[in-house]
Amino acid sequence: MENALEIRGLCKRYDRFALEDVSLMLPRGCVMGLVGENGAGKTTTIKAVLNLIHRDAGEIRVLGMDNIADERAVKERIGVVLEDGCFLNTMHAGQVDALMRKAYRRWDSAQFFGFLDRFGIDRAKKIKDYSKGMRMKINIAAAMSHGAELLLMDEPTSGLDPVVRDEVLDLFYDFMQDEGHAILLSSHITSDLDKIADYITFIHGGRVALSEPRDALLDTYGVLRCTADQLAALDPAAVRGKRVGTFGCEALVRRDGVPQGWPVEPVNIEQVMLFLMRGEEAR
Ligand code: ATP
Repeated sequence: MENALEIRGLCKRYDRFALEDVSLMLPRGCVMGLVGENGAGKTTTIKAVLNLIHRDAGEIRVLGMDNIADERAVKERIGVVLEDGCFLNTMHAGQVDALMRKAYRRWDSAQFFGFLDRFGIDRAKKIKDYSKGMRMKINIAAAMSHGAELLLMDEPTSGLDPVVRDEVLDLFYDFMQDEGHAILLSSHITSDLDKIADYITFIHGGRVALSEPRDALLDTYGVLRCTADQLAALDPAAVRGKRVGTFGCEALVRRDGVPQGWPVEPVNIEQVMLFLMRGEEAR
């Protein structure tokens, strides 16, 4: 099956930041989590896919189409949630429905209002009078009500309480029941990614630090606690990040690069993120 999203060699230069050679592949049927520190380049990557910013280099294909040459067709078939939301604060749900009906051929009002009812959203209120969680929910409902095959979600669960986050993840599960669908979502909440992501892409300082299927990532890597001498003896290619302290060292290592019998503990996504982002610092 074709990839839902292919990004090759994406570069975008601002005065004080550059996205450098970002590449990632998201197959249909899969959810990819985009993880990185504040300012790593996650939103910039998503905006480049949406052609909201001019890229300096690279190629982006969405559902088999070029994201610029086929922009109209691409936008019809993707659902988008951006951090700041997509609607004016003075709108209420009925106006969002009317706007989206004009924008999308396959807009489904019944599905949209069904999501709002499921989320317990008061249709009469203006968006500015919603809580942060409600604003996120109306944006998610809109993104999922026009037959999109790919969802691009910039931190869709940030600011939501655990119960609402779970509701949103359930919606994503339902969406993924169609094996032609795919989701790219950026998130700092690694426990959400533990639940739903098939692939994890770590972005650090504008570059892809690692992009792998989640299960392979967790099988391949582990945490080694050892002495500085033991760490120094390891093949540097097996060490993806380390923290050197007074009483010993911790390192994110490839299991296959560590001698048999050395204690390598399982790692989770949050630990991988911390090692990749802060791994060279001393404690
Ligand atoms: P966060 O988790 O905080 O949302 P992010 O990974 O989404 O962060 P981006 O929003 O992609 O990060 O920003 C990456 C960098 O690009 C930041 O340093 C930001 O200041 C810079 N940047 C973004 N837009 C512009 C712009 N229009 N002009 C100059 N710099 C910009």
